[in-house]
Amino acid sequence: MKVFKFGGASVKDAEGIKNVIKVLKEVGYNETLIVVSAFGKTTNALEQIVREYMEDSSNMQNSILKLLKFHLDIINKLYDSDYTFIALEIQKIFEELKHFFQTNKSPDYNFIYDQVVSLGEIISTTILSNYLNYSGINNIWLDARKLIKTDNYYRDANLNWELSKEKILINIDIKNVYITQGFIGSDNNNFSTTLGREGSDYSAAIFAYVLNAEFVTIWKDVDGVLNADPRYFKKTILLNRISYQEAIELAFYGASVIHPKTLQPLQRKEIPLNVRSFLNPSKKGTIVSKGAKMKPIVPCFIIKKNQVLLRLSSLDFSFIVEENISDIFLLLHKFKMRVELIQNSAISFSVCVSNKYDNLDELEYNLRSKYNVNVYEGVTLRTIRHFNSTSLKSINKNNSNILLEQRDQNTIQLVLDE
Ligand code: ASP
Repeated sequence: MKVFKFGGASVKDAEGIKNVIKVLKEVGYNETLIVVSAFGKTTNALEQIVREYMEDSSNMQNSILKLLKFHLDIINKLYDSDYTFIALEIQKIFEELKHFFQTNKSPDYNFIYDQVVSLGEIISTTILSNYLNYSGINNIWLDARKLIKTDNYYRDANLNWELSKEKILINIDIKNVYITQGFIGSDNNNFSTTLGREGSDYSAAIFAYVLNAEFVTIWKDVDGVLNADPRYFKKTILLNRISYQEAIELAFYGASVIHPKTLQPLQRKEIPLNVRSFLNPSKKGTIVSKGAKMKPIVPCFIIKKNQVLLRLSSLDFSFIVEENISDIFLLLHKFKMRVELIQNSAISFSVCVSNKYDNLDELEYNLRSKYNVNVYEGVTLRTIRHFNSTSLKSINKNNSNILLEQRDQNTIQLVLDE
């Protein structure tokens, strides 16, 4: 069996959804589990609704209506004949959302986020599964919340492999075609959880691992894994082949093409990952597999925006030693800061972090009792893997705003105030 994943960009409108059918018919869809994200920017819209709920904003009902309309418009454009049934089903999910807001007692932002944001994928797969059946691709809709079991670390839940394996194997017979959601799961109390933004790739890898899939294909709006993000770079080069290790490194440094947790399960069972364009399904794209020599070997540029650089130094010019470092890391862990880069000298310690959980003020407050703290918000982390003299020159041209630099044989990383 094989696993396909279609992300939000591939299903951003009715045309995109029709294109999924075209891709499936062109490449074949027997014995396939299809993992789907929320349509277009639905996850962002739901995040906005959660924020409005937390702020008691009068705009919330408007935002909900707008999102409902977005989905009903898509349904309207998909079907030639009567589609009332599916429109009603979607309206029902929006009613459930409103009901949740009316009855929720929890003040926990992360918990609320997961109950609400997970609905984006429930809605998209309900529409897609129906439309595929309507178009002659018979499929079974599966609720991933019943299969992907996690802990209750909301917004970045950790998988319970044993339980998920059991549920997946009971519910999936590899002979069929299935549609299910990426990104979402549920905890022991059956509350929805999410696996982190862009987590649908990871869901696809989990299913592939448990089902011993032959391969996984991630369908993207680019030709495959590129050496740079086309949103920031005019010229990009397609990587035809890379190893799992290279892909893990690229994802770790922030290449947004593959979710970082995706590669480990695939690597463990040596399941090849194919990244292909849903606009050009005849092209081969990128193959990520065991020990594959990178082809072509070119510098890869990765940009992570909106990072925070913290520069700490001791209050009394004493050395920053193991004890301090362990102390600092305890705080980073406590305030859920993802550490991207560290550098230390005798009396100073610098760390570049992602402030996903918005805990910077509290962290800073705790650090200030023991250290001098300089905070640089909104900085950019640039990484170049396989750098060469030309790519180095491109950095040096504009080095006035370099706050921190680190390099080894293969990789150079810079924190820039830009
Ligand atoms: N819909 C989720 C997101 O936008 C998950 C995904 O697309 O992978 O982050």
